[in-house]
Amino acid sequence: MIYLDNAGTTSVYPEVLDVIKEYCLQNYFNASATYKPAIKVRDDISAARGVIASLLHADKNEIYFTSCATESNNWAIKNGFRNKNGNIVISAGEHACVYESAKTMESKGVDVRIAALNDDGCVNIDDLARKIDDKTCLVSVIHVSNETGVINDLRKISEIIKKINPKVIFHSDGVQAFLKVNCDVKSFGVDMYSISGHKFHAPKGIGALFIDKKLHLAPYINGGGQESGQRSGTENVAGIMAMAKAAQIYRMHKEEAPVLQNYELLLERLSDIEGCTILGDRHNNSHYVVAASFSGCKAEILQSMLADESILVGRGSACSSRHAGNRVLAAMNLSQKTIDGTLRFSLSPETKASEISAACDVLKEKINKLRGNKIG
Ligand code: PLP
Repeated sequence: MIYLDNAGTTSVYPEVLDVIKEYCLQNYFNASATYKPAIKVRDDISAARGVIASLLHADKNEIYFTSCATESNNWAIKNGFRNKNGNIVISAGEHACVYESAKTMESKGVDVRIAALNDDGCVNIDDLARKIDDKTCLVSVIHVSNETGVINDLRKISEIIKKINPKVIFHSDGVQAFLKVNCDVKSFGVDMYSISGHKFHAPKGIGALFIDKKLHLAPYINGGGQESGQRSGTENVAGIMAMAKAAQIYRMHKEEAPVLQNYELLLERLSDIEGCTILGDRHNNSHYVVAASFSGCKAEILQSMLADESILVGRGSACSSRHAGNRVLAAMNLSQKTIDGTLRFSLSPETKASEISAACDVLKEKINKLRGNKIG
């Protein structure tokens, strides 16, 4: 099997599986208990928090573990918004969990404003600035697009936001960015930042939210007072330890892997296919995601033809595939035909050049077959 849908999810590293086993079979104690083995578990969680914090250039007490990035993003949007007379500004490029959280707020009467995208998929900073005023409480802009891999310049956006209204809380969804591009949350000036373990070879069901210590938000989940009282619930110790371990391994493998060469190989091989349009901005893109549209082809059919050959690629985000159409690609002013012909190829440090080449050979053959059959 050739797996090129790593932005959808990743396999769990074998070493990470060992960590999960350890915290399920040996060190399974409730971190809130007061006996010695439980205190060790508490210390281990604290060390894992330190690992995630240092990778984000944040302080340990600014990292809160969650069940996934969907939860982190719901937390940020729903709890970050504190003034019912204020407004929320998000970009049109947000993942469904940010977009739908904002829409829920809108259904409760909150003024939600959506900033347009440029044709490359980045937020249009002028439009974003126009939508912010002295009543804006919260702004959320995705760091790296899950649809195209394009990178928003968080530092620049933060400076502009804070100049207009220094009280704004600035959140960013960093799920496709963490460990893949520079994620120095402090230098960016973001106040909240979401990540998800299963995008970097940790298991599904564990994520985190960075909340700058200067923010004083009401607790998101009430209960036994875990996560400094902000997000109660017995800790998913195995998940937390697994996420920290996976992050360390990912970072190491990424240094050793030919990530840039593989990205360039993928771009070159795709561009070689007639009628292929690469979306995003290759000079300002994550090296882990390439979205490409193939004229005269329906991505749905191509995806399934590739799957029949054991080649797995994405088609927009796995979450948006449940909804009709692709809201983010539509916001990039792409024609319906271009959107319908778009596949997403996403890599991991574990992806091999030979897999990229083999997948592109089969893709070219299938496209020729489809066009020969005049489908699309
Ligand atoms: N945000 C982005 C940009 C994503 O790509 C995803 C997952 O596809 C999520 C949020 C949701 O993450 P999770 O699966 O951890 O809830």
